[in-house]
Amino acid sequence: MIVNSLPGHVGIAIVGGGPVGALLAQRLAASGHDVMAIEARTGTPADPRALALSWASRDTLLEAGLWSDALAATPIEKVHVSQAGTLGRTELSAAELGLPVLGFTVPYEKLAALALERLKTGNVPLALGHTVTGLRQLDRYAQLQLAGPDGAAMLTAGLVILADGGKLVTQLGDIKQTVKPYDQHAILARITPSQPHRGMAYERFADDGPLALLPSGDDFMLIWTQTPEQAAERLAMSDEAFLSAVEARFAGRIGGFTRVGTRASWPLALKTLDSVVSRRVVLIGNAAQTLHPVAGQGLNLGLRDADTLASLLTATPHNRAGDAATLARYARLRRSDAGRVTFFTDSVIHLFESPNPVFKHLRSLGLLALDHVAPLRRGFARRMVYGAR
Ligand SMILES: Cc1cc2nc3c(=O)[nH]c(=O)nc-3n(C[C@H](O)[C@H](O)[C@H](O)COP(=O)(O)OP(=O)(O)OC[C@H]3O[C@@H](n4cnc5c(N)ncnc54)[C@H](O)[C@@H]3O)c2cc1C
Repeated sequence: MIVNSLPGHVGIAIVGGGPVGALLAQRLAASGHDVMAIEARTGTPADPRALALSWASRDTLLEAGLWSDALAATPIEKVHVSQAGTLGRTELSAAELGLPVLGFTVPYEKLAALALERLKTGNVPLALGHTVTGLRQLDRYAQLQLAGPDGAAMLTAGLVILADGGKLVTQLGDIKQTVKPYDQHAILARITPSQPHRGMAYERFADDGPLALLPSGDDFMLIWTQTPEQAAERLAMSDEAFLSAVEARFAGRIGGFTRVGTRASWPLALKTLDSVVSRRVVLIGNAAQTLHPVAGQGLNLGLRDADTLASLLTATPHNRAGDAATLARYARLRRSDAGRVTFFTDSVIHLFESPNPVFKHLRSLGLLALDHVAPLRRGFARRMVYGAR
């Protein structure tokens, strides 16, 4: 529900109406808390990402009214993981977990558009087109400076939830952010296979970096991780040369590709915080942790942040939402899942980047073990779908 004039004070301010902030706002709408959402953008961002969301994330979004046909979601039936130049490979399937599908891919643009639409039409007041430019913490509340269509404004809140993707954290003096650049870029491109993908996603660990192919409509969304120099070269290649290079990395496993769309490149870094809570502020989604996209876990994790915080706040008396005890409880509840998924994602990158033949052999054995030991494989797939709680 778009507000025309801002109040001076709210109980809870959610900064950011992306998928994570919108989920939290939707979940808190019926809680009776005095909530307001603040979103800088007024339209849909141009963003080529296609996101792999687990079956569990789909459920979470569906329950909050953030899933619809407008997302044009593509089911993922199986995930094929392999390492180039070795026998190591395994396949994760929905049937093994007793699920209809492992998950879905959705275009980020469509999810962001649906999130904004729900905020505009939902019960939570929305300061649309307002950017939070400053954040100060006082004893009993936090103070936000905003820039909006009518100029600058000030708002205080008993609790501020940052779901802004990670921009405002630098304003919190008591939280230390660690940024670890991977010295890698991801090339994103939509590519059309010559044969139907049948809901199969691929993760391929090639010698010069991992590639993921996510089924998206009739196409694949390619996410190809490589050094910045290689990325620059491959962005400049002809379409034919680019598609041949991708095909060569899969050594004939998929068949050919007929078309590649616009290619974009994305610098990659791991961003973590020493704490996801500050005095009257809590950080969720990418504001709390930004991961390498190799395992497709960033938004899945962020949605679990929002889900946990929504359940906690719904059960918390209104005057205690921003208390230190409430925020400390949230931090405790999220520590294990966030820590393990972050560690797993970062480890995959380092484990698969070493060219040492001994490591390559061990990786191959690891994939073969997953393939041959069903309980191990099921446990791994379950974690990818439900998180590491
Ligand atoms: C190449 C790539 C591929 C990925 N693939 C996957 C995948 O397959 N699966 C997966 O789970 N994750 C994936 N991710 C991660 C995923 O995109 C993010 O985890 C997710 O978008 C985070 O959502 P969010 O709502 O926290 O932040 P965002 O999506 O960044 O949304 C933040 C919102 O806050 C608003 N905002 C920002 N600053 C302000 C401000 N100061 N005032 C008001 N509003 C503000 C923005 O306009 C925006 O709407 C991928 C990431 C990349 C880069």
